[in-house]
Amino acid sequence: MDSLEDKRYFLEHINPKAKRFLNTCSHCGRQGYRPSIEEEGFGEDGKRRFMRKVLQRHYGPLPLDESGRCEVCVGLARKGD
Ligand SMILES: [Zn+2]
Repeated sequence: MDSLEDKRYFLEHINPKAKRFLNTCSHCGRQGYRPSIEEEGFGEDGKRRFMRKVLQRHYGPLPLDESGRCEVCVGLARKGD
């Protein structure tokens, strides 16, 4: 398993471009990759394919709603209604 430090190292030193493909929940701060990287057209060139592989190794998919919250936070907010 990768530690948080590993992830930080990877993002800051190895592939700063990968940050573009990361989502961060505005509410709880959870991070994951944008589900759009799993789409067919994304891996057309080799660099992107590599980036996808690395992102998938370090993170899970994290879809966000229109206000930038992850599914967990959206679920919690719904319960409170
Ligand atoms: Zn969240």
